[in-house]
Order: sequence, then C-alpha cells, then structure tokens
Amino acid sequence: MAVEQEFADVYPLTAEILLEYLDGTDCRDCGFPSCTAFADALISGKARGRQCGELDPGIAAAIDALLDYAPPIIPYNVMMESLSPGIYPVGDPPPSSPVLVTCNFTETVRLLEQILKTCSIKAILLMSDTKGYSVDNAVAEKKFTPFEVLKVISHTEVGSMVNHGRLLIPGLAGHLKTGLATTTGWHVLKGPVSGFEIPLFLIREGLVQ
Ligand code: SF4
Repeated sequence: MAVEQEFADVYPLTAEILLEYLDGTDCRDCGFPSCTAFADALISGKARGRQCGELDPGIAAAIDALLDYAPPIIPYNVMMESLSPGIYPVGDPPPSSPVLVTCNFTETVRLLEQILKTCSIKAILLMSDTKGYSVDNAVAEKKFTPFEVLKVISHTEVGSMVNHGRLLIPGLAGHLKTGLATTTGWHVLKGPVSGFEIPLFLIREGLVQ
C-alpha cells in the first residue's frame, strides 16, 4: 500500500494577511469592488499590488515579488536537519539591519533567506538552538526558549554587529515576548506567524531602509 507523503506547513501568504496591509477604504480605484476582493485577486494571481494606489510602493513591490515566488515543498523526511546555532547573514547586512530570531532547522533558514532575498531585504538571522525543530514544533515542544536565545546572542555577540537593540521574534513565539525581553535585555517585537509576511511587516514598521 502506498504511503502518503506528508509535507511541512510553510505558512504562505493569504488574502487575510494581505488585507491587513491594505487601506480598507474600499475606494474601488484598483478596479475591484472592495479591498477584500482585491486581496483575493492578489492571491489568485488576478491582480498586482501596484494596482492599489493607496498601498506603500515598497509593500506593493514586495507583495508582487512574494506572490511570484513559488514556496518550496518540504517533505517531513527532512525534518530535524539542523544548522549550528548562530548568525546567518542575508545579503551583507549593515548595522541597521533587523535581527530576526528563528530556529536552527535547515529548511526554515533557507526559506527565510529566499523570502528576504526575493524582497531585496538585508537582515541577520539569529538561529537559536531548537534541536532542529521548525519554529511551530519548537514552540510546541518548548525548544524555543528565552535561555537558548540569550545563549546565541551571547556567543555570537550579535549586539556588536547592529546599531540598535531590537529582536524580531516569530509570531508563533509571541507569548514568550516578555520573557525574552527580560532574559536578553533586548527590545523584543512580535513578528508575523508567516515568514512570507516578514518583508511586509519590516517595511510597514520602518525596520528596513
Ligand atoms: S485601491 Fe486599494 S484601498 Fe482602494 S479598494 Fe482597491 S485595494 Fe482597497
């Protein structure tokens, strides 16, 4: 009997996510009857971000780039493959670059790198030791912890590489925000659940130049 292959959830962009970045005025200038209809059209490939004149041009370009990018399929049989905890620079990041805390699952790091490069965003990925668990599983298994994040901050000396003290953490680890801030002494921001939303969030919050 054939065994059905299972794949990891990569949390792609959805119309609900995109709607959070639209103006919400339903002005119809894009040719669609509402912002909701426009978000649906973006996801189904029937519209481009730049059709909305109310949308920040950087966010519009990032939406178009992300929707042109085909998310990889990650089979469960590669789960737990890990990189050494530490720094993973994306695009020769300058000191103003955001520091994004993530897990040390190889495929997650590769995917985040591709997402950021797709949007020409330079960043520092800070890979906490989650024993190779992806973020969702690491949170569920309590492998994503303030102590492990503090360890990787300390041994990489990431604080000397940037001119700010902000950490962006995955949305799925948002409940650890206060504990992470207290343990690390950094200003902790809760980021999106979907890695594909990270570029949009960084642009909207003015965290990239
Ligand atoms: S142009 Fe933008 S703000 Fe106006 S309806 Fe379309 S998506 Fe909404």
